[in-house]
Amino acid sequence: MALRNKFVAGNWKMHLSVAEGVALVTELRALLDGVAGVRVAVAPAFTAIHPVADALRGSLVEIGGQNVHWEKQGAFTGEVSPEMLVEAGATCAIVGHSERRQLFGETDEGVRKRARAALDAGLTPIVCVGETLAERDAGRTLEVVGAQVRAGLEGFDANDLAKLAIAYEPVWAIGTGRTATSAQAQEVHAAIRAILRELVGDAADCVPIQYGGSVKPENAAELMAQPDVDGALVGGASLSAASFAAIVRAA
Ligand code: PEP
Repeated sequence: MALRNKFVAGNWKMHLSVAEGVALVTELRALLDGVAGVRVAVAPAFTAIHPVADALRGSLVEIGGQNVHWEKQGAFTGEVSPEMLVEAGATCAIVGHSERRQLFGETDEGVRKRARAALDAGLTPIVCVGETLAERDAGRTLEVVGAQVRAGLEGFDANDLAKLAIAYEPVWAIGTGRTATSAQAQEVHAAIRAILRELVGDAADCVPIQYGGSVKPENAAELMAQPDVDGALVGGASLSAASFAAIVRAA
């Protein structure tokens, strides 16, 4: 298990102004003073990445994009390239979040291209996968999540996998207050790990697999105590420095 550090990332979604984001991370870095051995990142809105990165200079906390395009530049209105994220101070990027898949029509193929481009630019892609409630109720969770993992990582080798993270986020648990039990999370994380092992052998043991879906200070420790739950992708609870710091400390 010591093969991988825990990785806790906060997804601010379309919340927080620049001033609010800077205030939050100023409080967060003080709350995390002395914490080590865990990777921590926050993903602000694109407009806040640069100032929030400035406010975090010299701290443990890294910056991520909430999405990233696969081209370096060009006529892609509304998109941001990996190089632009790096220039603004980011070290990682969420790809394939269920809100992007469901509300903006992103596909496994696009997720793969975004992850590939992020890797090539030196960013850590956080590749999100997860089933809907209807898919879970139909007993299709492992099939759906497995297909997303295989398609999203098609063509990736052990070197690539050593530089990315996966986030298992059951869609029915995102922003609903309903969390997967630690046993439900572990079952899916172990299945993802088994697929990674098929793809790249023992290198699978180095890939952090985060859990996401209504993670809070109250449930974080139990979830992250599972052998294949290597951290968390946190939405709502990352909008409070105190809650997010408590989740990081639980890791
Ligand atoms: C998310 O958006 O990735 C997420 C897990 O949200 P929440 O923690 O609010 O459920």
